[in-house]
Amino acid sequence: MAFYVQKYGGTSVGSTERIKNVAKKVAKFYAQGHQLVVVVSAMSGETNRLIALAHDIQENPDARELDVMVSTGEQVSIALLAMALMTLNVKAKSYTGSQVRILTDSTHTKARILSIDEARIRADLDAGFVVVVAGFQGVDEKGSITTLGRGGSDTTGVALAAALKADECQIYTDVDGIYTTDPRVVAEARRLNTITFEEMLEMASLGSKVLQLRSVEFAGKYKVKLRVLSSFEEGQGTLITFEEDENMEQAVISGIAFNRDEAKITVLGVPDHPGIAYQILGPVADANIDVDMIIQNVGHDGLTDFSFTVHRNEFKNTINILKEKIQPHIGARDVLGGDRIAKVSVVGVGMRSHAGIASKMFRVLAEEGINIQMIATSEIKISVVVDEKYMELAVRVLHKAFDLEQAL
Ligand code: ASP
Ligand code: MG
Repeated sequence: MAFYVQKYGGTSVGSTERIKNVAKKVAKFYAQGHQLVVVVSAMSGETNRLIALAHDIQENPDARELDVMVSTGEQVSIALLAMALMTLNVKAKSYTGSQVRILTDSTHTKARILSIDEARIRADLDAGFVVVVAGFQGVDEKGSITTLGRGGSDTTGVALAAALKADECQIYTDVDGIYTTDPRVVAEARRLNTITFEEMLEMASLGSKVLQLRSVEFAGKYKVKLRVLSSFEEGQGTLITFEEDENMEQAVISGIAFNRDEAKITVLGVPDHPGIAYQILGPVADANIDVDMIIQNVGHDGLTDFSFTVHRNEFKNTINILKEKIQPHIGARDVLGGDRIAKVSVVGVGMRSHAGIASKMFRVLAEEGINIQMIATSEIKISVVVDEKYMELAVRVLHKAFDLEQAL
């Protein structure tokens, strides 16, 4: 007998038919004697629909009220799932985030979980109930409803698994695990049986959308055993492991991530003297804009160029800040930018013990005539910025070059 926290995403509960299917799955585990906490998302499309309603009323919807509203999507799913379980003679009870007191800070629309009061859930589990909890939401100290950011139900699942010390947190979704890359881009992409936590963290932060980044961070912090599986087919999914198994044959590269979420900005002809990076990026940071990649070119004649990337949504805002506050101040020649870029990254813990991965990556891209605009590396990843129109080609040729379609 084990204790599982299972999370079912929006597609998995996208219709009453599908909710009945989830109930059947849950009932099967229940019949085997396992204890279960089930976290669900809103029915697919519902959160977007609700957000659109808000924008019909208020151009820039009030964040507190937005949370009051979007949290209802999950409230519908939990009640429906509890009912579906009852029809299968499974004792079930649903709770919203605030009812189980998932306490968060007050950063509406992207709140962070501070603590979870597990007493009530435990009492229900001990009384033989399946406890169904609304994902994506919590409550702050003042009693206001908060939400955890898009995709936040994953984080609810992992946080509950951590607080309740579950044996495993199972994320049921519309894909049957973590793939070497998105199968919609590379048909030969392969499901991984395991991926290390560090690799998963990189993949999630570099654009793989299967798990919300924060849920992976949470799993790392509390050492939650996390597995990604399909709601629709049987299978073992992908287990996120904490130790690199020394006996396991380790691929050098485990996966390729990509995203189109960034934009590039270049400040041309800035004086090449100490403090210039701070003068440019200080005001950007003050505006709460995250900067990802940064390069400063080698200077000549006392001048240099400085480029960095930000989220695409912050592109215009950042250009304005630079043109108004920084360019006149530091006497830069011009501020240019482009948002038609994409970032492609290869990820793998095997890079630690293998040389030449970067040069191989650059050669493969060069052979396809793909120009690299920026490069960033860490111990286990290499990212390049390329023109958006070459993104899929880059992913395909790299997937092939690193033999990712072949099982070990
Ligand atoms: N319903 C929320 C969203 O669409 C949370 C989730 O699905 O994880 O972002
Ligand atoms: Mg999701």
